[in-house]
Amino acid sequence: MAQSRRGCGCALAALVLALIVIGIFIIPFALKWWREKPPQPSGDELRVHVLNVGQGDSILIISPAGKTVLVDAGNPGGGRLVQAAMQRAGVDAIDLLVATHAHADHIGGADEVINGITVRRVLDSGVPNATRNYEDFLSAIQNKGIEYTIAEPNQNFDIGGGARITVLAPIKPLFTASQLRSGGNEPNANSVVVRLDYGSFSMLLTGDAEAQTEDRMINGGANILAKILKVGHHGSRYATSEDFLRRGKFEAAIISDGQDNRYGHPSQEVLDRLRAANIKVYRTDLQGEITVTTRGQSYEIKPEREARGDLFAGRTPQKDDSARSGFVQYGDFGPPPRASRNRNNNTNAARGR
Ligand SMILES: [Zn+2]
Repeated sequence: MAQSRRGCGCALAALVLALIVIGIFIIPFALKWWREKPPQPSGDELRVHVLNVGQGDSILIISPAGKTVLVDAGNPGGGRLVQAAMQRAGVDAIDLLVATHAHADHIGGADEVINGITVRRVLDSGVPNATRNYEDFLSAIQNKGIEYTIAEPNQNFDIGGGARITVLAPIKPLFTASQLRSGGNEPNANSVVVRLDYGSFSMLLTGDAEAQTEDRMINGGANILAKILKVGHHGSRYATSEDFLRRGKFEAAIISDGQDNRYGHPSQEVLDRLRAANIKVYRTDLQGEITVTTRGQSYEIKPEREARGDLFAGRTPQKDDSARSGFVQYGDFGPPPRASRNRNNNTNAARGR
Protein backbone atom coordinates (compact mmCIF):
# COMPACT_ATOMS: atom_id res chain seq x y z
CA MET A 1 0.00 0.00 0.00
CA ALA A 2 2.75 2.39 1.05
CA GLN A 3 4.67 1.52 -2.08
CA SER A 4 1.66 2.31 -4.30
CA ARG A 5 1.19 5.71 -2.59
CA ARG A 6 4.85 6.46 -3.24
CA GLY A 7 4.34 5.48 -6.86
CA CYS A 8 1.37 7.83 -7.04
CA GLY A 9 3.44 10.68 -5.59
CA CYS A 10 6.20 10.11 -8.13
CA ALA A 11 3.72 10.13 -11.03
CA LEU A 12 2.16 13.35 -9.73
CA ALA A 13 5.57 14.98 -9.38
CA ALA A 14 6.48 13.87 -12.91
CA LEU A 15 3.21 15.32 -14.20
CA VAL A 16 3.77 18.64 -12.44
CA LEU A 17 7.32 18.78 -13.77
CA ALA A 18 6.11 17.98 -17.28
CA LEU A 19 3.49 20.75 -17.03
CA ILE A 20 6.11 23.23 -15.83
CA VAL A 21 8.45 22.32 -18.69
CA ILE A 22 5.62 22.53 -21.25
CA GLY A 23 4.54 25.86 -19.71
CA ILE A 24 8.04 27.30 -19.96
CA PHE A 25 8.18 26.46 -23.65
CA ILE A 26 4.59 27.22 -24.59
CA ILE A 27 3.86 30.40 -22.61
CA PRO A 28 6.34 32.60 -24.57
CA PHE A 29 4.83 31.39 -27.86
CA ALA A 30 1.31 31.94 -26.57
CA LEU A 31 2.23 35.45 -25.41
CA LYS A 32 3.87 36.23 -28.76
CA TRP A 33 0.78 34.94 -30.59
CA TRP A 34 -1.48 37.02 -28.34
CA ARG A 35 0.65 40.13 -28.82
CA GLU A 36 0.77 39.71 -32.60
CA LYS A 37 -2.84 38.63 -33.06
CA PRO A 38 -4.59 41.35 -35.08
CA PRO A 39 -7.84 42.70 -33.65
CA GLN A 40 -11.20 41.83 -35.22
CA PRO A 41 -11.71 43.68 -38.52
CA SER A 42 -14.74 45.98 -38.65
CA GLY A 43 -15.40 44.99 -42.27
CA ASP A 44 -15.19 48.61 -43.45
CA GLU A 45 -12.72 49.51 -46.17
CA LEU A 46 -9.03 50.13 -45.57
CA ARG A 47 -7.12 51.92 -48.32
CA VAL A 48 -3.43 52.15 -49.06
CA HIS A 49 -2.29 54.69 -51.66
CA VAL A 50 1.29 54.25 -52.84
CA LEU A 51 1.64 57.76 -54.21
CA ASN A 52 3.47 58.64 -57.38
CA VAL A 53 6.12 60.98 -55.99
CA GLY A 54 8.83 60.22 -58.55
CA GLN A 55 12.08 58.75 -57.23
CA GLY A 56 11.03 58.50 -53.57
CA ASP A 57 8.45 57.04 -51.21
CA SER A 58 5.17 58.28 -49.82
CA ILE A 59 2.38 55.95 -48.82
CA LEU A 60 -0.95 57.13 -47.47
CA ILE A 61 -2.96 54.64 -45.41
CA ILE A 62 -6.58 55.33 -44.49
CA SER A 63 -7.92 52.99 -41.83
CA PRO A 64 -11.47 51.59 -41.80
CA ALA A 65 -12.19 54.08 -39.01
CA GLY A 66 -10.91 57.02 -41.10
CA LYS A 67 -7.59 57.43 -39.29
CA THR A 68 -4.61 58.20 -41.47
CA VAL A 69 -1.00 57.11 -41.55
CA LEU A 70 1.56 58.62 -43.90
CA VAL A 71 4.70 56.57 -44.41
CA ASP A 72 7.27 59.05 -45.78
CA ALA A 73 6.54 62.25 -47.64
CA GLY A 74 8.61 62.12 -50.83
CA ASN A 75 11.20 64.63 -52.02
CA PRO A 76 11.50 68.33 -51.20
CA GLY A 77 8.52 69.96 -52.87
CA GLY A 78 6.58 66.70 -52.55
CA GLY A 79 4.42 68.05 -49.75
CA ARG A 80 1.91 69.37 -52.27
CA LEU A 81 1.62 65.90 -53.88
CA VAL A 82 0.79 64.45 -50.47
CA GLN A 83 -1.73 67.20 -49.76
CA ALA A 84 -3.39 66.70 -53.16
CA ALA A 85 -3.64 62.95 -52.51
CA MET A 86 -5.16 63.62 -49.11
CA GLN A 87 -7.74 65.91 -50.68
CA ARG A 88 -8.63 63.25 -53.24
CA ALA A 89 -8.98 60.72 -50.44
CA GLY A 90 -11.12 63.12 -48.40
CA VAL A 91 -8.86 63.30 -45.34
CA ASP A 92 -7.41 66.44 -43.79
CA ALA A 93 -5.11 65.27 -41.00
CA ILE A 94 -2.38 62.70 -40.43
CA ASP A 95 -2.70 60.69 -37.23
CA LEU A 96 0.72 59.08 -37.60
CA LEU A 97 3.59 60.18 -39.84
CA VAL A 98 6.22 57.47 -40.16
CA ALA A 99 9.60 58.75 -41.32
CA THR A 100 11.35 55.54 -42.37
CA HIS A 101 14.74 57.27 -42.53
CA ALA A 102 16.35 60.64 -42.95
CA HIS A 103 17.08 60.68 -46.69
CA ALA A 104 15.57 63.45 -48.79
CA ASP A 105 13.53 61.13 -51.02
CA HIS A 106 11.60 60.04 -47.91
CA ILE A 107 11.49 63.01 -45.52
CA GLY A 108 12.17 65.78 -48.07
CA GLY A 109 8.51 66.79 -48.17
CA ALA A 110 7.80 66.04 -44.49
CA ASP A 111 8.30 69.60 -43.19
CA GLU A 112 5.86 70.88 -45.83
CA VAL A 113 3.29 68.29 -44.71
CA ILE A 114 3.83 69.12 -41.03
CA ASN A 115 3.62 72.86 -41.65
CA GLY A 116 0.69 72.59 -44.04
CA ILE A 117 -1.68 70.21 -42.28
CA THR A 118 -2.43 68.69 -38.89
CA VAL A 119 0.00 65.90 -37.99
CA ARG A 120 -0.68 64.32 -34.59
CA ARG A 121 2.33 62.10 -34.09
CA VAL A 122 5.67 61.37 -35.76
CA LEU A 123 7.48 58.04 -35.64
CA ASP A 124 11.14 58.32 -36.64
CA SER A 125 14.10 55.95 -36.90
CA GLY A 126 16.09 58.40 -34.78
CA VAL A 127 19.15 57.87 -36.98
CA PRO A 128 20.38 61.38 -37.74
CA ASN A 129 21.49 62.70 -41.08
CA ALA A 130 23.36 65.98 -41.30
CA THR A 131 21.25 67.54 -44.02
CA ARG A 132 19.12 70.63 -44.25
CA ASN A 133 16.11 68.44 -45.08
CA TYR A 134 16.36 66.48 -41.86
CA GLU A 135 16.93 69.64 -39.82
CA ASP A 136 13.85 71.23 -41.39
CA PHE A 137 11.86 68.10 -40.57
CA LEU A 138 12.94 68.14 -36.90
CA SER A 139 12.36 71.90 -36.58
CA ALA A 140 8.86 71.58 -38.00
CA ILE A 141 8.05 68.85 -35.44
CA GLN A 142 9.40 71.01 -32.63
CA ASN A 143 7.69 74.20 -33.77
CA LYS A 144 4.33 72.48 -34.01
CA GLY A 145 4.79 70.66 -30.69
CA ILE A 146 4.09 67.28 -32.27
CA GLU A 147 4.49 64.08 -30.26
CA TYR A 148 7.76 62.50 -31.44
CA THR A 149 8.48 58.80 -30.97
CA ILE A 150 11.59 56.79 -31.82
CA ALA A 151 10.64 53.50 -33.46
CA GLU A 152 11.30 50.23 -31.66
CA PRO A 153 10.33 46.68 -32.57
CA ASN A 154 6.92 45.51 -31.32
CA GLN A 155 5.49 49.01 -30.90
CA ASN A 156 1.82 48.85 -31.93
CA PHE A 157 -0.37 51.63 -33.24
CA ASP A 158 -4.11 50.94 -33.25
CA ILE A 159 -5.45 52.88 -36.22
CA GLY A 160 -9.07 51.95 -35.70
CA GLY A 161 -11.60 49.57 -37.20
CA GLY A 162 -9.39 46.60 -36.37
CA ALA A 163 -6.36 47.83 -38.32
CA ARG A 164 -2.96 48.01 -36.73
CA ILE A 165 0.57 49.14 -37.48
CA THR A 166 3.43 47.21 -35.88
CA VAL A 167 7.09 48.20 -35.92
CA LEU A 168 9.53 45.44 -36.93
CA ALA A 169 12.75 47.47 -37.29
CA PRO A 170 15.17 49.13 -36.63
CA ILE A 171 16.45 46.44 -34.31
CA LYS A 172 18.97 47.43 -31.64
CA PRO A 173 21.90 47.67 -31.53
CA LEU A 174 21.56 49.74 -34.68
CA PHE A 175 23.72 48.98 -37.71
CA THR A 176 26.97 50.93 -37.76
CA ALA A 177 28.80 51.94 -40.94
CA SER A 178 31.52 49.31 -40.46
CA GLN A 179 28.94 46.51 -40.47
CA LEU A 180 27.46 47.49 -43.80
CA ARG A 181 28.22 46.46 -47.35
CA SER A 182 30.41 48.82 -49.32
CA GLY A 183 28.16 51.67 -50.46
CA GLY A 184 25.55 50.89 -47.81
CA ASN A 185 24.61 53.52 -45.25
CA GLU A 186 23.18 53.70 -41.74
CA PRO A 187 19.96 55.60 -42.49
CA ASN A 188 18.91 52.94 -45.05
CA ALA A 189 20.01 49.96 -42.96
CA ASN A 190 18.20 51.31 -39.90
CA SER A 191 15.01 52.18 -41.77
CA VAL A 192 11.76 51.95 -39.86
CA VAL A 193 10.03 48.80 -41.12
CA VAL A 194 6.34 48.45 -40.30
CA ARG A 195 3.64 45.94 -41.01
CA LEU A 196 0.01 46.83 -41.53
CA ASP A 197 -2.56 44.26 -40.41
CA TYR A 198 -6.28 44.28 -41.00
CA GLY A 199 -8.08 40.96 -40.58
CA SER A 200 -6.23 38.47 -42.75
CA PHE A 201 -4.83 41.26 -44.94
CA SER A 202 -1.28 42.39 -44.30
CA MET A 203 1.33 44.58 -45.92
CA LEU A 204 5.00 45.08 -45.18
CA LEU A 205 6.57 48.51 -45.70
CA THR A 206 10.34 48.33 -45.61
CA GLY A 207 11.59 51.86 -46.33
CA ASP A 208 15.05 51.57 -47.89
CA ALA A 209 16.08 48.54 -45.83
CA GLU A 210 18.39 46.17 -47.66
CA ALA A 211 19.23 42.47 -47.33
CA GLN A 212 21.26 42.87 -44.13
CA THR A 213 18.24 44.36 -42.41
CA GLU A 214 15.99 41.69 -43.90
CA ASP A 215 18.31 39.00 -42.47
CA ARG A 216 18.30 40.64 -39.08
CA MET A 217 14.50 40.68 -39.02
CA ILE A 218 14.35 37.03 -40.08
CA ASN A 219 16.92 35.97 -37.48
CA GLY A 220 15.13 37.99 -34.80
CA GLY A 221 11.86 36.18 -35.48
CA ALA A 222 9.99 39.24 -36.80
CA ASN A 223 6.68 38.45 -38.47
CA ILE A 224 7.43 39.30 -42.09
CA LEU A 225 4.69 37.11 -43.54
CA ALA A 226 2.43 39.44 -45.57
CA LYS A 227 0.18 39.55 -48.62
CA ILE A 228 1.81 42.66 -50.09
CA LEU A 229 5.37 43.96 -49.96
CA LYS A 230 6.31 47.60 -50.50
CA VAL A 231 9.64 46.68 -52.03
CA GLY A 232 12.69 47.88 -50.11
CA HIS A 233 14.93 50.64 -51.45
CA HIS A 234 12.94 51.20 -54.66
CA GLY A 235 13.95 47.81 -56.04
CA SER A 236 17.69 48.16 -55.41
CA ARG A 237 19.59 44.96 -56.10
CA TYR A 238 20.92 45.05 -52.53
CA ALA A 239 17.43 44.55 -51.11
CA THR A 240 14.62 41.99 -51.48
CA SER A 241 16.69 38.84 -51.13
CA GLU A 242 15.49 35.46 -52.32
CA ASP A 243 15.32 34.26 -48.71
CA PHE A 244 13.23 37.28 -47.69
CA LEU A 245 10.76 36.61 -50.51
CA ARG A 246 10.56 32.92 -49.65
CA ARG A 247 9.84 33.57 -45.99
CA GLY A 248 7.51 36.54 -46.56
CA LYS A 249 5.31 34.56 -49.00
CA PHE A 250 4.21 37.84 -50.59
CA GLU A 251 1.55 37.67 -53.30
CA ALA A 252 2.13 41.17 -54.69
CA ALA A 253 4.96 43.69 -54.62
CA ILE A 254 4.75 47.45 -55.13
CA ILE A 255 7.81 49.39 -56.21
CA SER A 256 7.89 53.15 -55.65
CA ASP A 257 10.40 54.67 -58.05
CA GLY A 258 10.88 57.42 -60.62
CA GLN A 259 11.08 57.22 -64.38
CA ASP A 260 14.31 59.15 -64.69
CA ASN A 261 16.23 57.78 -61.72
CA ARG A 262 19.94 57.21 -62.17
CA TYR A 263 20.26 54.49 -59.58
CA GLY A 264 18.99 51.75 -61.84
CA HIS A 265 15.89 51.25 -59.67
CA PRO A 266 14.31 48.81 -59.95
CA SER A 267 17.14 46.44 -60.73
CA GLN A 268 16.71 43.57 -63.13
CA GLU A 269 17.94 41.21 -60.43
CA VAL A 270 15.13 42.11 -58.04
CA LEU A 271 12.50 41.94 -60.78
CA ASP A 272 13.83 38.48 -61.71
CA ARG A 273 13.66 37.39 -58.08
CA LEU A 274 10.07 38.64 -57.82
CA ARG A 275 9.11 36.85 -61.02
CA ALA A 276 10.78 33.61 -59.90
CA ALA A 277 8.80 33.80 -56.64
CA ASN A 278 5.59 34.23 -58.67
CA ILE A 279 4.85 37.64 -57.15
CA LYS A 280 2.69 40.15 -59.03
CA VAL A 281 4.55 43.42 -59.57
CA TYR A 282 3.26 47.00 -59.59
CA ARG A 283 5.40 50.08 -60.25
CA THR A 284 4.65 53.75 -59.71
CA ASP A 285 7.09 54.78 -62.48
CA LEU A 286 5.08 52.87 -65.09
CA GLN A 287 1.57 52.83 -63.61
CA GLY A 288 1.31 55.98 -61.47
CA GLU A 289 -0.33 55.80 -58.05
CA ILE A 290 -1.10 52.27 -56.87
CA THR A 291 -4.18 51.87 -54.66
CA VAL A 292 -4.90 48.85 -52.48
CA THR A 293 -8.35 48.33 -50.96
CA THR A 294 -9.49 45.62 -48.56
CA ARG A 295 -12.25 44.86 -46.05
CA GLY A 296 -9.98 42.59 -44.07
CA GLN A 297 -10.00 39.46 -46.20
CA SER A 298 -9.42 39.63 -49.95
CA TYR A 299 -7.86 42.74 -51.44
CA GLU A 300 -7.78 44.62 -54.72
CA ILE A 301 -4.84 46.49 -56.26
CA LYS A 302 -5.61 49.21 -58.79
CA PRO A 303 -2.94 51.15 -60.68
CA GLU A 304 -3.76 54.67 -61.82
CA ARG A 305 -3.09 53.71 -65.45
CA GLU A 306 -2.03 50.90 -67.77
CA ALA A 307 1.67 50.13 -67.52
CA ARG A 308 3.80 52.28 -69.82
CA GLY A 309 6.37 49.59 -70.47
CA ASP A 310 7.35 46.14 -69.30
CA LEU A 311 6.84 45.74 -65.54
CA PHE A 312 9.62 43.17 -65.41
CA ALA A 313 12.19 45.27 -67.27
CA GLY A 314 14.75 46.78 -64.91
CA ARG A 315 16.57 50.08 -65.31
CA THR A 316 20.27 50.57 -65.91
CA PRO A 317 22.22 52.66 -63.42
CA GLN A 318 24.11 55.64 -64.77
CA LYS A 319 27.66 56.48 -63.91
CA ASP A 320 28.33 56.57 -60.18
CA ASP A 321 29.62 60.07 -59.54
CA SER A 322 29.63 59.85 -55.77
CA ALA A 323 33.34 60.72 -55.70
CA ARG A 324 32.76 64.17 -57.19
CA SER A 325 32.98 67.18 -54.87
CA GLY A 326 29.70 68.60 -53.64
CA PHE A 327 28.06 65.20 -53.85
CA VAL A 328 25.12 64.75 -51.50
CA GLN A 329 24.48 61.19 -50.44
CA TYR A 330 20.81 60.26 -50.36
CA GLY A 331 21.25 56.57 -50.80
CA ASP A 332 23.45 55.50 -53.64
CA PHE A 333 24.44 58.56 -55.59
CA GLY A 334 23.08 61.95 -56.36
CA PRO A 335 21.03 63.81 -58.91
CA PRO A 336 21.92 64.09 -62.58
CA PRO A 337 24.01 67.09 -63.60
CA ARG A 338 21.70 69.90 -64.70
CA ALA A 339 23.28 70.07 -68.14
CA SER A 340 22.06 66.60 -69.02
CA ARG A 341 18.50 67.44 -68.06
CA ASN A 342 15.75 69.40 -69.64
CA ARG A 343 16.54 73.11 -69.64
CA ASN A 344 13.23 73.91 -67.93
CA ASN A 345 14.07 71.83 -64.90
CA ASN A 346 13.26 73.51 -61.64
CA THR A 347 15.51 73.57 -58.60
CA ASN A 348 13.81 70.56 -57.02
CA ALA A 349 14.94 68.33 -59.84
CA ALA A 350 18.46 69.63 -59.40
CA ARG A 351 18.44 69.16 -55.62
CA GLY A 352 18.31 65.41 -55.79
CA ARG A 353 16.14 62.34 -55.41
ZN1 LIG B 1 14.84 56.01 -50.96
